[in-house]
Amino acid sequence: MKYALVTGGSRGLGKAVCLRLAAQGIPVIVNYKQNTEAANAVVAEITAAGGTAELLPFDVASPAEIEEALAAWADKHPDDYVGILVNNAGIRQDNLMIFMQDEQWHSVMDTTMNGFFYITRRLLKDMLTHRNGRIINMASLSGIKGLPGQVNYSAAKAALIGATKALAQEVAQRKVTVNAVAPGFITSDMTKDLNEAELKKLVPMGRFGKPEEVAALVAFLASDEAAYITGEVISINGGLYT
Ligand code: NAP
Repeated sequence: MKYALVTGGSRGLGKAVCLRLAAQGIPVIVNYKQNTEAANAVVAEITAAGGTAELLPFDVASPAEIEEALAAWADKHPDDYVGILVNNAGIRQDNLMIFMQDEQWHSVMDTTMNGFFYITRRLLKDMLTHRNGRIINMASLSGIKGLPGQVNYSAAKAALIGATKALAQEVAQRKVTVNAVAPGFITSDMTKDLNEAELKKLVPMGRFGKPEEVAALVAFLASDEAAYITGEVISINGGLYT
């Protein structure tokens, strides 16, 4: 059976992606780092709606945890593979560069880039063997435009975009697509400390986006219908920046 793995599936955009893919009949692996209660609630919601989901906690910044968790999953699922990978887990550690601490730099880079590299490399072989795969990387407007106070986050997301374009060309022949989604302001725990009333004035659509709107885009990129789209970065930002 073909599974979807969604990193950071316990909350926000990742949760919406899990619910959406599961509603389309795709078995979902819900990854998270620490919020077991929220992750359990996602699995419960999917199961209650008749879908299939299981938890797979690990820290996407840790190559050792990634390897251990994915090896254990493969042992438990000898006839299954992950055909859809949504590299969604991410964190913000904003600061002006002049004040930025080493830890703020490394934690953001490691979460975004280690997560992408180690998880994708581990799962790519099965996708290439099956000649079928969808990799969707959650980038950001910050990675395209750059945002002050987010040198670390902008750098990590820009790197993810570069990696998306390069990998797409490596695996296209085996029918594996690799795309990035670049959201603007989306309502979630990550943006709850922002001044939404002020910031939404910058958005031509006059509002923050919803996680479900991002999930719909991810679901399309994950579908068979999106087979000829690869190496793309698709913005979803209410017209904020294109
Ligand atoms: P969120 O509400 O803060 O949720 C973050 C999710 O990532 C949680 O499920 C969290 O798990 C998980 N996570 C964080 N660090 C992790 C780690 N080291 N290992 C495994 N899981 C980890 O964030 P969000 O707004 O949904 O953002 C999701 C993605 O979209 C991120 O990559 C973010 O950069 C990107 N994005 C968001 C926006 C926005 O406006 N919200 C805009 C552009 C891009 P726990 O529950 O266990 O903590």
